[in-house]
Amino acid sequence: MPEQWRPVVGYEGSYEVSDLGRVRSLDRVDRTGHPWCGRVLKLHPVSSRGYRKITLYRDGEGAQRLVHRLVLEAFVGPCPEGMEGCHRDADTTNNTLTNLRWDTPSANNYDTVRNGNHHHAKKTHCKRNHLLEGNNLAGGAASDRGWRRCKACAHEGDNARLQGREFSIELADIEYQKLTGVIA
Ligand SMILES: [Zn+2]
Repeated sequence: MPEQWRPVVGYEGSYEVSDLGRVRSLDRVDRTGHPWCGRVLKLHPVSSRGYRKITLYRDGEGAQRLVHRLVLEAFVGPCPEGMEGCHRDADTTNNTLTNLRWDTPSANNYDTVRNGNHHHAKKTHCKRNHLLEGNNLAGGAASDRGWRRCKACAHEGDNARLQGREFSIELADIEYQKLTGVIA
C-alpha cells in the first residue's frame, strides 16, 4: 500500500499528515505574495515524555502538536471524550496509523507495562535523540537485561556529578560526537 495523505484537521489547505506519521506542508503563497513549495517537515527531537511533536503555523502563529494525535484525527476522527491517543506497541515514536488508536488512559498504561521491556530493548534513541548504536551503547547490568542506554549521556552525567554542576545537553552532544564521530 502506498503512503496515504489526509489534511491535518484544523489546518486544511496548509498541511497533510500520512498514515506513516509523516507531516508535509502544501504549496502556498504567504501574505507578502511569496510562493513556498510544499515539503515533508522535520519533526522535533523526541520529547522528554517520548513523543514526536511538530510546530504547525496558522495565521502566522505557531503551535506545537503531537504527531500521533494528528494521525488519529485525520484518519480515525476526533478524540472521544475521556480517551487519549495510544500506541499499541508502546513505542511512542512509532506513529504509523496501524500502531495507533483512541483508548482510555488505563488501556494506555496497560500497553506501556505489557510492552515495557520490549520497548527498552528496541529503543533506538535516548531521550536527547542520540542514536543508541555501536560505540554509544552503554554496557553493564542494564545491557545484560536487554535495555539500551546512552553512553554519551552517561558520561556527561558522571562528569556533571564529579564537577558539581547541572547536566549539560551541549556537553552530552560533544560526548556523543567523541564516541561516534557524528555531530549530534
Ligand atoms: Zn543521550
